[in-house]
Amino acid sequence: MDLTEIKVEGWRKVVRATDKETGLDAIIAVHDATLGPACGGCRVRKYASFDAALDDVKRLSRGMTFKNALGGIPFGGGKAVIIADPETEKTPAMMRAFGRAVDALGGLYYTAEDSGVDEHDLEIVRSVTKYAAGISQKGVGGNPSPFTARGVWRGIEAAAKAKFGRATLDGLRVSILGVGAVGMALGELLHEAGARLVVADVNEAAARQAVKRFDAAAVAPADLACADVDIFSPCALGGAVDKETVGRLKARVVAGAANNQLATPDMDKALFDRGILYAPDYVINAAGVISVGLEILGQWTEVELNRRIDAIGPRLTAIFERSAREKRPTGEIADEMAMEAIAKGKPAA
Ligand code: NAD
Repeated sequence: MDLTEIKVEGWRKVVRATDKETGLDAIIAVHDATLGPACGGCRVRKYASFDAALDDVKRLSRGMTFKNALGGIPFGGGKAVIIADPETEKTPAMMRAFGRAVDALGGLYYTAEDSGVDEHDLEIVRSVTKYAAGISQKGVGGNPSPFTARGVWRGIEAAAKAKFGRATLDGLRVSILGVGAVGMALGELLHEAGARLVVADVNEAAARQAVKRFDAAAVAPADLACADVDIFSPCALGGAVDKETVGRLKARVVAGAANNQLATPDMDKALFDRGILYAPDYVINAAGVISVGLEILGQWTEVELNRRIDAIGPRLTAIFERSAREKRPTGEIADEMAMEAIAKGKPAA
């Protein structure tokens, strides 16, 4: 296994790891390690080119710096990509070689799950390095979806308070785009809290299940933006909030689990200008990395995890209040608060 450093301005360390025997071709990018070792998942994907992989790992690792800082965990931002088809090219030997590359960084980077990597792969990585997390063992860690749903629920509560002055979700109308692992668990929490749900999913069976379980209404995904609801919760893929959607939205709040919800960065301001309160995605959906962070710190208990996840609510409240005070979009405020935390050398409280 060969490690070659790639100089990237603004990044703490970027290395390419190759291994002839196993076919490994990976990039590990540590964007910032001011708050602690970098932490972020590993993605396995057949990129069109090495440069495309480098662009992706740069974008993702930078995002983790912000996410971890505002997640309240003492970790910097990092990410890894393996250039391979996860279905046909990924092998246990390749994952072991990747683990050796992570190990060679001596704890500067902790890896975890991302698309194309599952818990079984991580167990293989863990067999050669201690710098891997997100593996369920002895009741610790495991499937992050219920944690993420809890964080989004807390975020929706904070947004409902800020936007509608509501202390509870009872009677509020919420639309959920995508009732998969997170969206379905979120539906359960919102339904129990008395919210009235409208759901949409390209998977009709999933939508039908949500209708049955939560007494929800179902509409076609393309029609969800027009649904007469108070809160829109994107929980499918990224990019759900584009110019057209912002123009059509009846909801006054956007708060959901999906990564990269905004199709383009200027949607942050577009939502703000329309008076729609946006809960920045990387703040509201941070429960998974919070769990991984606690696992690495050896502090994972269900009680501690829930306490940390519940802090997402007050953290969003602080963002909403500052946005209202300074008359600036919430996404911009979140980025600024993350940078302030890094400048102080302490993750957000
Ligand atoms: P999932 O694949 O289990 O669920 C996604 C659901 O969205 C599926 O039911 C799918 O059919 C549906 N869907 C896909 N495209 C759609 C479309 N165009 N219109 C309507 N529905 C569509 O994924 P998940 O784990 O629930 O994650 C959902 C989102 O949350 C993703 O963006 C993910 O990156 C993000 N996220 C998840 C976690 C987690 O803990 N799982 C953590 C942070 C962020």
